[in-house]
Amino acid sequence: MDKKLYLPGDYVTTIEEFFAGLGLFEENGKIYSCTSGLPKIDLKERRIDIEPVKKPKSFVKKGDIVIAQVKDIGRNVVELTLLYNETEKVEANIAAFMLIKRSKEVALRSIKPTDIVRAYVLDSEGKIMLSMRGKGFGILYALCPFCMNPLYFNEKEFRTLKCLNCGFKVNTKVSSFYLNKYKG
Ligand SMILES: [Zn+2]
Repeated sequence: MDKKLYLPGDYVTTIEEFFAGLGLFEENGKIYSCTSGLPKIDLKERRIDIEPVKKPKSFVKKGDIVIAQVKDIGRNVVELTLLYNETEKVEANIAAFMLIKRSKEVALRSIKPTDIVRAYVLDSEGKIMLSMRGKGFGILYALCPFCMNPLYFNEKEFRTLKCLNCGFKVNTKVSSFYLNKYKG
């Protein structure tokens, strides 16, 4: 395992070597990062955490492609934490917002706190506003709200995320770069 910067979905180690702590998830005996940050290793407990990298407000400009995590759903906006500027290849930890087009109720059916999205910057003057319009944009990684297993999609039904554990399904805006795919 490298002492490097991990991004959401990066392979980190195996469950034989470490217990997955904060910022990590297990799948098929392997441990992956679900956040971007640096590993913090406790050799005594054999535990590993990924600690988000905190950097001062980084350069974000209109049109940049970013990775962000949903923090809260308000009446008119989704509040997110911008984690990574893919265009500039820099870590970030700053607030960003996305307008809710229809109603909060509709938004709540398709997106939830902890979801990780790929979006682009609509506006960076004042508040950073994001949009998920376009094929590569949308949800990149999400967990099942009932059993907390990662949700999957297959390319035939790419507006649907499905829990392969409990069968939960959600229609949503899925990025074509969504991390977990299955053949169905
Ligand atoms: Zn489930």
